Amino acid sequence: MEKREMTKLYPMLSVEEALEQVLSYFHPLEPERVPIIEALGRVLAEDIYSEIDIPPRANSAMDGYAVLAADTTAAGPQTPKRLRIIGDLAAGYVTETEVTPGTAIRIMTGAPIPPGADTVVRFEDTERDGEWVNIFVAVPVGKNVRPAGEDVRRGELVLRRGTRIRPQEVGMLASVGHKEVMVIRRPRVAILATGDEVVEVDAPLEPGKIHNSNSYSNAAQVLKYGGIPIMLGIARDQVQELTEKIRAGLAQGVDLFLVSGGVSVGDFDVVKNVLAAEGEITFWRVRMKPGKPLAFGRIGGVPLLGMPGNPVSVMVSFELFARPAILTMLGITDLEKPTVEAILLDEVKRKDGRRHFLRVYVEEKEGEYYAHLTGEQGSGILSSMVKANGLAIIPEEWSRVAAGERVRVMMLDWDERCHPFADWKRAEG
Ligand code: AMP
Ligand code: MG
Repeated sequence: MEKREMTKLYPMLSVEEALEQVLSYFHPLEPERVPIIEALGRVLAEDIYSEIDIPPRANSAMDGYAVLAADTTAAGPQTPKRLRIIGDLAAGYVTETEVTPGTAIRIMTGAPIPPGADTVVRFEDTERDGEWVNIFVAVPVGKNVRPAGEDVRRGELVLRRGTRIRPQEVGMLASVGHKEVMVIRRPRVAILATGDEVVEVDAPLEPGKIHNSNSYSNAAQVLKYGGIPIMLGIARDQVQELTEKIRAGLAQGVDLFLVSGGVSVGDFDVVKNVLAAEGEITFWRVRMKPGKPLAFGRIGGVPLLGMPGNPVSVMVSFELFARPAILTMLGITDLEKPTVEAILLDEVKRKDGRRHFLRVYVEEKEGEYYAHLTGEQGSGILSSMVKANGLAIIPEEWSRVAAGERVRVMMLDWDERCHPFADWKRAEG
C-alpha cells in the first residue's frame, strides 16, 4: 500500500485517544486461589471476614505480675504491697489457677490474663523476694492488658474485595487464619520480536545483526507490573513466519500480545498484513515521540500492541499503553503513573507537533524538583534510558522549552510493583 493511502486509512491519534481505544479492550481477569504470599501486589477478589477475635483472649502487654487492681490501691514507693506468687505463665499457655486477693501470677507478654486477675504490674514496678513480690505502684483495672478482640472482632470485615494486597494485608490474612486467598489472576503477556537483523542475546553478532534487547526489557516491564511474560522469540520480517509465531503464542493462551518492530512506514506491511488477515487493526500511529508508528489491533480475540522496534520506543510505548492494560487486567483501577512538576535545566527545541517524552534524571533540592536530560534522545539510545529516572512530558503545542521552565515528569521508578514470588518459591525450596 502507498504511504499516502495508509496514512489516510489510519489517522494519527493523540496519546489520550490511543489509550482510550486500548483500554476499551481490557477488563479485570478472573479470580484464582493462591497462597497468601503470592497475593502480594494483586487485587483481592473476595471480602475477608474474621471468624475469630484478635487477640483471641485478653493478654498481657508487658512482662510483669497479673494481680487484682484492688490489692494495689495503697501501694507506693515507700509502701510496697506484698503479694504471694502462685504461678508463672509464659506466652502460649493458659492457667486454671485463679488469682485471689493477696496473690499474683508472674506473666510474660502475650500470655492470657489468668482467671481472677484484672490488671498487670510491670516488672519495673516490682521487686521479687523469693515466693513473694513487692508491688511499688497502684495500678488501675485493665492496666497493661490487651482485651480480646482489641485488634479485630469476630465477624468483622477486615479486608474488602478490590483491595491491593500490600505486606500488611498479607499479615492480616495470616492473622485471621487464611493460608490461601482469592485474587485476580495475573495476565499472560506474549512477547515477540521481529526483524531479520535481530538475533538472540547469546548469538554471535554476524555483520548487520543486533541482539534482541526489546523482548527482555518488555519482559522485565511485564514482570514489574505483575504480568507473566511468555517469550516467543524472534520472527523474520515475513508474513508466514510472523503468522506462525503469533499462532504459536495464541495457542499458549495469552491475554495480551506485544510485538516489537515491523510497524514503521517501511515495515508496516508485514505486521499490518498479518493483523488484517488474522484479525483487525484498530489504529496505527500516535502523535508522540518516541513511539509514533504504534499499531494496535486484535488477533485471535487477543489485543495486540505492535510497537516500533527501537529500544527506547518499545519501553516508552509499553509504559504508556501496555502498563495500564496489564494493571486493568489485574483489577487495579488507579492507572495514573506518578508524576512531579520539575524545573527542566536544559533547553529543548522541536517542531513536530508530537508529545515528547524526554529521558531525564530528577533530583529534589530544597523542596523543588530539578530535571536534566540524561543524554542523546534518539529512540535507539538505551544508555540515556538507563541513566533516567523519569520521562519529561513536553506537550504537543510547545515548540521550545527554555532552560528553567517547569514541565511534568512521569517518574519511572515511583510505582514499583515487583512481584517477587518466583524468588519466594526458590527460597521455600
Ligand atoms: P523497526 O521498528 O522494525 O523498523 O525497528 C527499528 C529499529 O529498532 C531497528 O533498526 C533495530 O535497530 C531496532 N530493533 C528492532 N527490533 C529490535 C529488538 N528486538 N531489539 C533491539 N533492537 C531492535
Ligand atoms: Mg524491523
